[in-house]
Amino acid sequence: MVGASGSGKSTWAEARYRRDEIVSSDALRGVVGSGPHDLDASADAFDLLERIVAARLGRGLTTVVDTLGLDQERRTAWLAAARAAGLPALVVHLDTPSDLCRERNRGRDRPVPAQVLAGQLRKVAAVATALDLEGWDAVHRLSEPGRAAEGAPQRPV
Ligand code: ATP
Ligand code: MG
Repeated sequence: MVGASGSGKSTWAEARYRRDEIVSSDALRGVVGSGPHDLDASADAFDLLERIVAARLGRGLTTVVDTLGLDQERRTAWLAAARAAGLPALVVHLDTPSDLCRERNRGRDRPVPAQVLAGQLRKVAAVATALDLEGWDAVHRLSEPGRAAEGAPQRPV
């Protein structure tokens, strides 16, 4: 998954994949920290995330990595790991309009600070070209959240 906070990544994934197929950095912050928003727990959460992803791919299991997806080094390492496991590797890019991400963010219990979200939105806008060049088997780009929810493949993997 690739997309800013509030773009709908978790909603999209949870509508299509079983809970155990989704490896979420927020959920793992909740496991090793005080909650999904405990940024102090990020390093431990990502250590666990990488171990879970590697273990699942090693068994050939479908794995949805639910993070912002904006770190190219991590992202391309997941691509390489999927390849090594003989699995297809796909990106779901939630290119949701910025205004909608901001509106959803404002409506959340624990909004991401506006400046942090602005930085994410800038990175998401710039990431499309990189995704297209990284060598994924497919890049599903969902720009219209309503239509995307109806029209996207149920399980692209
Ligand atoms: P984060 O990076 O912070 O985890 P996210 O990209 O996972 O954010 P979600 O938690 O899936 O975003 O969605 C944010 C909010 O937007 C939620 O309140 C969710 O109900 C709503 N939402 C997500 N997708 C849709 C959609 N297709 N239609 C309407 N509302 C949606
Ligand atoms: Mg989420």
